[in-house]
Amino acid sequence: LAGQMSETMRKLQGSDKLTEKNVESSVKEVRRALLDADVNLKVVNSLIKDVKARALGEKVLEGVKPGQQFIKIIYDELARIMGSEATPLARKDASAESPTVILLAGLQGAGKTTAAAKLALYCKSEAKPRRVLLCACDVYRPAAIEQLKTLGASIDTEVFAMGTDVEPERIAREAISYAKKNKFDTVIVDTAGRQVIDTKLMAELKRVKNSVTPDEILLVVDAMTGQEAANLTRAFNDAVGITGAILTKLDGDTRGGAALSVKQVSGRPIKFVGVGEKVEKLEPFYPERMASRILGMGDVLSFVEKAQEQMDEAEARRLTQKMVEAKFDFEDFVKQTEMITKMGSLGGMMKMIPGMAGISDAQLTAAERQLKLARSLINSMTRSERRNPDLLIKDRTARSRLQRIAAGSGRSSKDASQLISDFQRMRTMMARMGKTMMDGGPGAAAP
Ligand code: GDP
Ligand code: MG
Repeated sequence: LAGQMSETMRKLQGSDKLTEKNVESSVKEVRRALLDADVNLKVVNSLIKDVKARALGEKVLEGVKPGQQFIKIIYDELARIMGSEATPLARKDASAESPTVILLAGLQGAGKTTAAAKLALYCKSEAKPRRVLLCACDVYRPAAIEQLKTLGASIDTEVFAMGTDVEPERIAREAISYAKKNKFDTVIVDTAGRQVIDTKLMAELKRVKNSVTPDEILLVVDAMTGQEAANLTRAFNDAVGITGAILTKLDGDTRGGAALSVKQVSGRPIKFVGVGEKVEKLEPFYPERMASRILGMGDVLSFVEKAQEQMDEAEARRLTQKMVEAKFDFEDFVKQTEMITKMGSLGGMMKMIPGMAGISDAQLTAAERQLKLARSLINSMTRSERRNPDLLIKDRTARSRLQRIAAGSGRSSKDASQLISDFQRMRTMMARMGKTMMDGGPGAAAP
């Protein structure tokens, strides 16, 4: 009955299912967030349209607002689009005749040379370390070769270079033979870039590609490229067919919408992200993390996620109703504390709920401490006492029962009577919290 009542309330409020209306403000918010993150406008529109088509009519999770749930669905979709897990870097079998060849491409300043050194260090630090040779194919700027040599020396990695007078495709080819002779199993080829996409650069890249048939062609993209990332990816992918990308300079405050463009346009995964100038600042790409960064609504996401993971829907509904009606018993109390423990701290949990701001830290800390003490005492209660707290409150046997419970749990009877008054107080407090939750706080939209 309690469950039905809560359901009815939600129906009356129109918040039991996702509707055009109750997700409206969240849709606007998500749109703004994605555009702020430099996600391509077309991508934003089609994403929102797709997600809405699928999500409207979906049942709203207990304890979650429709707008929050919508944001979570968008997030899941973002993570799904960008790939469900980190994709490993190509590596040939140990028995292979020739080394694994990784070719880096991208505009000037994107971070190719830095990424070459970072990848080399990464490969050398793998569980089965690789023997890496770096290859300097940027023949337009002597400084570029020096840069790679300096980086190589700093990570104790040999750099194959032939100066600036040799064609890059020949340098690459000779680097492979050198690697074969000297038992290097991986060759990372750094190439030249231009400030803008041009046909000469693309033609050169094609020649390098054809001369060494790389196992991996990674497009190095500056995360700050923003909207342009889509065109850039298309140009490089059409010219040489990339196998993946490295998104650099994510240590800046850019939100990283470029990641989505690269994936959408090429269908290829982001394999790594650069998070600093130093050679160790390379990380595998995690789609979930990036989705969360692009959306920038981490609090809502973790709240909905936790709710999804931990809340048995029917159970939560029953408990909420009991909280509201102050019919909460000691068994509920234990279940509730278990849920809270699973969901992290009571404070952390409550703070994520919009409209809960009015609850002070002191109140939350006190409640948390009571939960712990209470649990030990409740362990000593009989089943009927747990289910009927009045036996310990109003009944004429209450006093002796409390003495027995106190003795059984190794606490004083003062602790036990304290529990009872705390419990009564908490029941009232929960009823108030529960009401706030069910009234939905300020509007149905996420913050
Ligand atoms: P290239 O022209 O594509 O070879 O680019 P470089 O590797 O020479 O890098 C250009 C500049 O960007 C250099 O100053 C690098 O130190 C810097 N850089 C590269 N990757 C990152 C990164 O992940 N984070 C930051 N903050 N700077 C980076
Ligand atoms: Mg360079």
